Amino acid sequence: MTDPQEKIEQPDPLASGRPFVVGIIGGGQLARMMYAPSIAMGITVRLLATAPDESAAQIVHDVVIGAHTDLDAVREFAAGCDAITFDHEHVPTAILEQLEADGVAVRPGPAALVHAQDKAVMRERLSALGAPCPAHRVVDDLEAMINFGAEQGWPVIGKSSRGGYDGKGVWKIDSVEHAAELVPKIIDGLPEGAVLLAEEFVDFTRELSALVVRSPSGQAVAYPISESIQRDGVCVETITPAPGLSADSAVAAQQLALGLAHELGVVGVLAVELMERADGTVVVNELAMRPHNTGHWTIDGAHTSQFENHLRAVVDLPLGDPTPRAKWTVMSNVLGGTVADLPSALLHSFARDRRLRVEFYGKQVRPGRKVGHVNAFGDDLELVRRRAHHAADYLMGRIS
Ligand code: ADP
Repeated sequence: MTDPQEKIEQPDPLASGRPFVVGIIGGGQLARMMYAPSIAMGITVRLLATAPDESAAQIVHDVVIGAHTDLDAVREFAAGCDAITFDHEHVPTAILEQLEADGVAVRPGPAALVHAQDKAVMRERLSALGAPCPAHRVVDDLEAMINFGAEQGWPVIGKSSRGGYDGKGVWKIDSVEHAAELVPKIIDGLPEGAVLLAEEFVDFTRELSALVVRSPSGQAVAYPISESIQRDGVCVETITPAPGLSADSAVAAQQLALGLAHELGVVGVLAVELMERADGTVVVNELAMRPHNTGHWTIDGAHTSQFENHLRAVVDLPLGDPTPRAKWTVMSNVLGGTVADLPSALLHSFARDRRLRVEFYGKQVRPGRKVGHVNAFGDDLELVRRRAHHAADYLMGRIS
């Protein structure tokens, strides 16, 4: 066991002229997509992955295999890194606080990150900051949920405050009877440290994403607002800029996200997922503090990708231009279907569309699993969407 009081000396790359070393915790596709800009900028990446065949571990040169929940493993990994950042948000706060006590730059830091880890903490803080949120309350038992439903009207949404992803950990509860059947089971199954959060059901017409990046010096940039289209709780497509969103609403959403990044002290990407109602008002759904699926369009569609800007922020370099390169960019996720041989499927997609951009994550195809995405861009939205859908459908085996 390492002595928790022992400080690890952190070298200063700017003073020494040697490359920055950034440690990324988590070996998923987000870490993989950070790798390309790290190479271009001469930033050395060290990766903490749980297995050598993980998406990013397949390609990163300096990989340490270990668990992000193991304090000693994470401390050892972080020693010698100029800064630590994340592929996912599951590193326990206590571990990150210890890294900070060791003198490691944790970006984003644990005090900010907790708002992306715990939806109950996030709701409390955002409400205090005056950000638009649905009515919400932590409920300890069935009776509290029934009272909340009686006040707000059914249906209501129940959420595990921690550990949910892709719609897992979110339940629509329709009535008192439904609550009686579901709530005890939900409470029994909550992961450690989680509480059950009740939220007003927001009758939204679409979901939007406001993506901003903030550096430790306080510089910040905002990407255009994206519309995010979900199926069964999973993002299947984004359209940027969000069609039909007025300039005023877009600026208001960007300002909301920039304000939250500042108030919460975020370093790197902050994605603010928004639900838009028919009257054009928005409420915050949740926050992510790492590159986000709704920002994958930026790889080909913006002057600086979210992955590059995230890394620049982590090492406090000036941030790059977030403006779009094309009028419209559509991203379609490739959710594992019947095509196991993705590389061969490229033959058709590339032959058909020379401007199509494809990114595979090196993952085994399994039904519903995000194994890659495609980006298409151009001037005619309907055409761009058709190109993106066709390619994604082909790569998923939905058409042949
Ligand atoms: P996850 O962490 O799994 O992504 P979210 O909190 O984003 O969970 O919720 C998943 C989906 O559930 C959202 O994309 C949205 O469609 C729906 N949802 C979440 N909160 C509400 C709400 N208060 N009212 C209506 N739908 C909601």
